[in-house]
Amino acid sequence: MINTLNTSVVLSDNLQIGGNDILLMMGPCSVESYEQTYAVAKSMHALGLRVLRGGAFKPRTSPQAFQGLGLDGLKILRQIADEFGMLVISEALGVEQLPLVAEYSDIIQIGSRNMQHFPLLWAVGEQPKPILLKRGFMSTIQEWLSAAEHIISRGNQNVILCERGIRSFDSSTRNVLDVGAIAQIKASTNFPIIADPSHATGRVDLVPAAARAAIAAGADGLIVEVHPHPAEALSDGDQSLPLESLPAFVDDMRRIASAMGRGLI
Ligand code: PEP
Ligand code: MN
Repeated sequence: MINTLNTSVVLSDNLQIGGNDILLMMGPCSVESYEQTYAVAKSMHALGLRVLRGGAFKPRTSPQAFQGLGLDGLKILRQIADEFGMLVISEALGVEQLPLVAEYSDIIQIGSRNMQHFPLLWAVGEQPKPILLKRGFMSTIQEWLSAAEHIISRGNQNVILCERGIRSFDSSTRNVLDVGAIAQIKASTNFPIIADPSHATGRVDLVPAAARAAIAAGADGLIVEVHPHPAEALSDGDQSLPLESLPAFVDDMRRIASAMGRGLI
């Protein structure tokens, strides 16, 4: 069974994903402070961008790494997004914190490491907020679609897929962006799909090219990490765009979108 009900997912009264416009979601990997998140949102707002990402509960490989601000992070995101009229996307790591993340976010992210966390998939399927389901970094396309079906089977049809790179033998990039998967999902399902060029490459110098490739392959949007001071970021600084680069980045994406006959918001 594939999702044949939706070609686009409604995010708010005047925002959807999967229609003609490509949607850019941006923000820091982790919410670190009010000031950091505010600086990012302000730069985004100046460019007309509408969806603020930020991790409050972080899935870190090491328990010694920064684990996120938790509830305080969600509150920062909500307050700043409301000030700028933006939507919030943030990750729920487990079933226990889902009600909290759902209360403060407009879109709930299921991270790569949790793609087959079935109780979490069922729980997000039983609530109405849109879900961004990231591809497991060692998962096949079929496993990914089956995970989406788990959500849908509990009643929530509002599933957006995210290709965020898969693991390969080559360590020169963090992951490998599976551009073909984007084309295949577009050709064989009705799910909106976006790409995450930040985690796919792990390298800020490669993010724009990966992002262009994703849009050219048919992606409906991007989720991109940005930071006011990438060198000081508490997570994923190496792949975070500095704020100064945002205008040129957005321009670049708009040109590819236009070549594809699409707008960009
Ligand atoms: C993230 O979005 O910061 C993140 C942890 O992503 P992923 O689950 O794709 O690794
Ligand atoms: Mn990250």
